[in-house]
Amino acid sequence: MNTFKQKEREFALTRLMHLRDKFSESSQILGFMERLLEFQNELLSELSEKGISVDLSGAESRIRSGKPALNLNSIEWEPYLPYMDRLIRIVEEAGTEEIRRRARELGEMGREGVKELLSRFLRGEEIDPVVRMLFTALLQPILYLFADKISFSQESWLRNTCPVCGSKPSVSFLMDTEDWEGARFLRCGLCLTDWLYIRTKCVECGNSEDDKLNYFVSQELPYIEVQTCSLCRRYIKIVDLRKDGLAVPDLEDIATVSLDLWAESEGYVKVERNILGF
Ligand SMILES: [Zn+2]
Ligand SMILES: [Zn+2]
Repeated sequence: MNTFKQKEREFALTRLMHLRDKFSESSQILGFMERLLEFQNELLSELSEKGISVDLSGAESRIRSGKPALNLNSIEWEPYLPYMDRLIRIVEEAGTEEIRRRARELGEMGREGVKELLSRFLRGEEIDPVVRMLFTALLQPILYLFADKISFSQESWLRNTCPVCGSKPSVSFLMDTEDWEGARFLRCGLCLTDWLYIRTKCVECGNSEDDKLNYFVSQELPYIEVQTCSLCRRYIKIVDLRKDGLAVPDLEDIATVSLDLWAESEGYVKVERNILGF
């Protein structure tokens, strides 16, 4: 696997510990996230050692025609389902009462039941939030490895869905790259792929009228903007890595639940919820 990507996830765990100290009001959920991330990193290194294969025939032409490289419903998930048992055990130790109960129920469903729920999840159907979290936690590292084998042109995609798996982004960020200053990227909520997007454009509806987009920055979190759109009433956070170069966008998003509460109280709905459902 691309060493940068592996290092990024290892670093994420260190960042999570820092965020736990910084955001004491979110320390419980960050502690839980830490367990999930440990599981994901273990899975990442186990699977990359073993080597995983995925059918990528047609992936390039799919991307060229505006479709995501992977068709999630045609991937053979069966070999990965045994890892769900491990995840359920972790969650049964670390989760709240409600999470533990739901996880136990999922564990008792048997493989066929889990497969059925998984395909509903992959079709984008609404499923129980705890089950959604478990599937996201399991699939993220697997898809992260698949994504590592897929390349696409940043300048030609520019869509609001992921070029690798077709999911929506749950967070976005700004950074300077060799080619662009202050470029905006979206990060996929499912496979964590980053792709380029227009800075001043709504991620949900594509609106780019200045007076219909707003940027809220709280005094305590100067490196995160909440971009809201008054046309579709959606919002997404923009983490400015130029202001905090150690930030890990998907984790900053989880740590700053206060911003989600603010956006919700203003009547906005997130473009896509993160792994924990915020
Ligand atoms: Zn994706
Ligand atoms: Zn919009």
